[in-house]
Amino acid sequence: MEKQEIINWLKCEDEAELDELWRMSDTIRQNHVGNAVHLRGLLEISNICARNCHYCGIRAGNDELGRYRMPEDEIMECVHEAVDYNYGTVVMQAGEDFGITREWMTTLIRRIKKETKLAVTLSLGERSDDDLVAWKEAGADRYLLRFETSNRALYNRIHPPLPGIESDRLALLRRLRGIGYEIGSGVMIGIPGQTWEDLANDIETFRSLDLDMIGVGPYIAHRGTPLGIDDVALLMAPEGEQVPNTEEMTYKVIALARVVCPSANIPSTTALATLNTATGRELGLSRGANIVMPNLTPKKYRAMYVIYPAKACIDETAADCRACMQRRILSIGREVGTGRGDSPNRGKRKAA
Ligand code: SAH
Repeated sequence: MEKQEIINWLKCEDEAELDELWRMSDTIRQNHVGNAVHLRGLLEISNICARNCHYCGIRAGNDELGRYRMPEDEIMECVHEAVDYNYGTVVMQAGEDFGITREWMTTLIRRIKKETKLAVTLSLGERSDDDLVAWKEAGADRYLLRFETSNRALYNRIHPPLPGIESDRLALLRRLRGIGYEIGSGVMIGIPGQTWEDLANDIETFRSLDLDMIGVGPYIAHRGTPLGIDDVALLMAPEGEQVPNTEEMTYKVIALARVVCPSANIPSTTALATLNTATGRELGLSRGANIVMPNLTPKKYRAMYVIYPAKACIDETAADCRACMQRRILSIGREVGTGRGDSPNRGKRKAA
């Protein structure tokens, strides 16, 4: 699909035409990754963060927030819960927390690999090459790092670097691939200043990175962040150019991601479910997605991992999330995946 066609779809408001897009993405999903929806248990292991991203509620500068880092034994309890729930993967996500040291994480990954058969996904932000290599050697399988937007000027505005270190997530993703990780990335939809052209470029970047996993969700303003309190009118792209941060736009990006990366794993995300708690997950799954990430984080920490406000599933326990996801998957005629749900892309790359 050419860029202009991507832009046309992003701007399309005709429901009959959009039905065609939904049918196309659902058929491609069925043909390339099948009927199964894989479950990844999401464990938010720390909300401590060294960065000051202008969009994110757990940014270092937000001093309204209680901070936590889960101890190893508590993480292991949740990991074993993931096994009991038949999840194939545990995803460990955190702020950019350098209190999570190379050694500590290495020990934890080894322990998970020794005690379970789970695939291990890391989402710990921009870490040093030595950290990333060590964690791969310890047994980590996948790394998630959204590039957030392919518009470099917009990225620089909302994602300030650490002093003296350039932030280049695209380069880091290529490096992660080189180290041997399955790589996942994605963007926020409707960031103030994001144009149709930017978003189309993002989707083309999914293709050029040959991503194993693509996670997208709407940008949701958080009052504890600069982007949430600045005069948004001043930041918006010129009249007619600004992408809205809506539920419908999120479905379009999920569908187009499926079209350009037919074999990728694509989650129906929590940010989407936050905009439509009733049926957002299901609609994402019906329009191209094949993954959900039920939350495994102990309830006492969930309310502190507020990257954006009113996040879905904040009052639930891990068991609630397990049951809820299963019900939603079965209700639309899909089945719960068994096994790790590895990237079909990766298999293809190995064969080549
Ligand atoms: N520290 C890790 C994990 C960040 S949280 C990292 O930087 O990679 C995971 C994702 O949440 C981010 O990559 C971002 O795309 C998303 N996110 C952060 N703030 C958000 C907001 N206000 N609205 C929607 N999504 C947001």
